[in-house]
Amino acid sequence: MIRKFTFFLLLMFSAIFFAQIYKPLDTSDYAQRKEFARNYMANNELLIKDLKSKYSGKAGSELPKIYKELGKDFDDKVKNKDFTFNSVFDAKVKSLIERLRKNNPQIPQNLKILIAKNNTPNAFCFADGTFVINMGLFSWLNNDDQLASVISHELGHKITEHTLKAFLSMINQNQTDKLVVQNIKSNKVNRNQRAFDVLRDRIYQKGAKNRKQEMEADSLGYVVFKNSNFKKNEFINALKRLEDFDTISPRQLNVETYKKFFNLPKQEFNDKWLAKEDFSLYNYNNFNNKLNKDSLKSHPEVTLRINNLKKIFPELKNEVADEKASESYAILEKIARMETLPNFYHSEDYGLGIYTSLQFLQDGEEEKYYKNWLGKCFGKIYEARKNYNLNRYLDRVDPKNQSESYQQFLNFMWNLNLDEIKNIADYYQYKES
Ligand SMILES: [Zn+2]
Repeated sequence: MIRKFTFFLLLMFSAIFFAQIYKPLDTSDYAQRKEFARNYMANNELLIKDLKSKYSGKAGSELPKIYKELGKDFDDKVKNKDFTFNSVFDAKVKSLIERLRKNNPQIPQNLKILIAKNNTPNAFCFADGTFVINMGLFSWLNNDDQLASVISHELGHKITEHTLKAFLSMINQNQTDKLVVQNIKSNKVNRNQRAFDVLRDRIYQKGAKNRKQEMEADSLGYVVFKNSNFKKNEFINALKRLEDFDTISPRQLNVETYKKFFNLPKQEFNDKWLAKEDFSLYNYNNFNNKLNKDSLKSHPEVTLRINNLKKIFPELKNEVADEKASESYAILEKIARMETLPNFYHSEDYGLGIYTSLQFLQDGEEEKYYKNWLGKCFGKIYEARKNYNLNRYLDRVDPKNQSESYQQFLNFMWNLNLDEIKNIADYYQYKES
């Protein structure tokens, strides 16, 4: 009954939201954010106390430092509104975890779900039971079962305390000071790439040890998943889907699209905008196989992991096509897709926001909505250009590591002068909305 009611609410929600122009999720949840941060910091203190009593020597002094830094870093993210509270996504995640818990009593009871305004399909479970699910999972994965499989994998890490083990091994190899202290203070790292991400990437990084952890989390996660009657093969399908993810979509942006959206009544399109920097010094052929690799692969070596699962669990050997999404999942998938631009805007990735808006516009999707975001992002690019800090929001052309389409886009952006940027920003912010 409750499930039916939730579904009905979602349906109403979507009818209201998509009949008119989509309105991004409200993140002005001040009271909830404050309450969450207070509890989180209190729990983190308890955790640190506990670690101090459990470990002595180097681990006893270093582990509390790491968790303290991570706690502060996480608190900053909460204050920065990087998460949504009680959004439409929560109910789905909670119901999937409940379903997993039914036949798996080893799943901790105290999990707290947070949905991150982040387009990368990833999840992370903290030591204190805070479970972060990136919105990108909803737009990238195809159904409930695939989402449950990612949750199961993370629970596998949590149950075996992989994060703590990884920290301990880093401490023993004298790698912590450099990481924890320098990375937080360094301005060289992306503004949003804070201590937590650096450490997490470190934990997930390539290497025999972490490959072993990934495989452990896979097999333990798969058992949890299987016990709960999800469609078994979706565990493999989810891994394949994640392998295909790129932070910058490899979809090609056509020259006609630039001409269509930047030929304005008061500012005719100028072919010179499409001129490319001369990179003839580079030998392109050497880099061809590296093109379209703009990604930050969340979990490396997926093929190895899939083969490992097939070896241990023979029932996974036969591949099965992706299951169709349930209606409730399809609604969330659509909402997450519509949040792509608000999320880029929130993380101040304005260049990427423009590139992505143009891709959606090229496909003829929600024209009014994406033109509006085009205007907002161009407004920010104008401010940045005026203040000489465009570098912070727009990548430089890098033929070694970018697809040709993305390089063309960056050339176009860097070729525009201040007035031209202003005209585009004004046109889309005021004339079109
Ligand atoms: Zn993992």
